[in-house]
Amino acid sequence: MGNYIVGIDLGGTNLKAGIVDNHGKILHRLSIKTNNNAAPETISDQIFGLIDETIKNFQSTTAGAGLKSTTPDILGIGLGSPGLIDKKGETILFSPNLPLWRNIPIKRMISERFHVPCVLENDANAAAWGEKWAGAGKDVDSLVMITLGTGIGGGVVINNKLWRGAHNVAGEVGHMVIQMNGPKCSCGNYGCIEAYASATGMVRRFRELLQNGVPSSLKNTGEITAKTINDAALRGDKASLDIIQETGRYLGIALVNIMHILNPEMIVLAGGMTGSGDLLMNPIKQVINQGAFEASYKDTYIVFSKLGNDAGIIGAAGCLLKELETSV
Ligand SMILES: [Zn+2]
Repeated sequence: MGNYIVGIDLGGTNLKAGIVDNHGKILHRLSIKTNNNAAPETISDQIFGLIDETIKNFQSTTAGAGLKSTTPDILGIGLGSPGLIDKKGETILFSPNLPLWRNIPIKRMISERFHVPCVLENDANAAAWGEKWAGAGKDVDSLVMITLGTGIGGGVVINNKLWRGAHNVAGEVGHMVIQMNGPKCSCGNYGCIEAYASATGMVRRFRELLQNGVPSSLKNTGEITAKTINDAALRGDKASLDIIQETGRYLGIALVNIMHILNPEMIVLAGGMTGSGDLLMNPIKQVINQGAFEASYKDTYIVFSKLGNDAGIIGAAGCLLKELETSV
């Protein structure tokens, strides 16, 4: 039996690969820019090339460290991909970030090319599994992970298993509607939590404040992003602080809904916006304390991700390992 797994995190911007050991530690990694508007075969060639390169580089580093310079024993390859995956977990049906990448039987393509098992998983699910396997959720059996970025992604683990839903589309936390007739969301609905509390939603609300004449040190400073708002809040900019706290209150509502429906042991928040730390966490917890049932709010862990940007690679590898364990 081999000892290593290749974990791939296919994103609209970056394509990342890592050699992961069976405890969820990344031993070697490579990352390239995804050729996201290219034809499918160009993207699959990028993936194949990156896998080849990562294994080759890992082999030479282990040789350099005086370890055996044989080809590392690869148990299999896990791929986390954005977008919709068919129910069997074999084909990427559609991905909004990779416009030409449709109906690609990537699982078979990878396992035929590398002669090892491959697992294909939605990227948010893979990240959730990563946190469960080797991150913040190591010691719990159930968790919901929420990734705050340009959009809001989510993954659900129940009884040590990913919950994919009857049609493989569960865990879409970002599209929980929290306000009837709210702002339009990227999904076409109105009032989703993503339209308020994603980085995009936060910037939109901040611009509205400025348009309404609220003073801020960020006025006339050019680009406004979640990061510049956070940095300004830390410097004491009141408008920025207000927006982050409001974001926390919106997220708090979403978390209360999740707790009422699933009652998970833990909710993990991930993504660049968690850099706001307590500025974001405190209002989340205030809303939970007021809104969640007493039986759950005291004992539900609300935490930030431990794996950060590595959750995708580690989780994809973990999904492969889990599949091998359950298939024997
Ligand atoms: Zn939506």
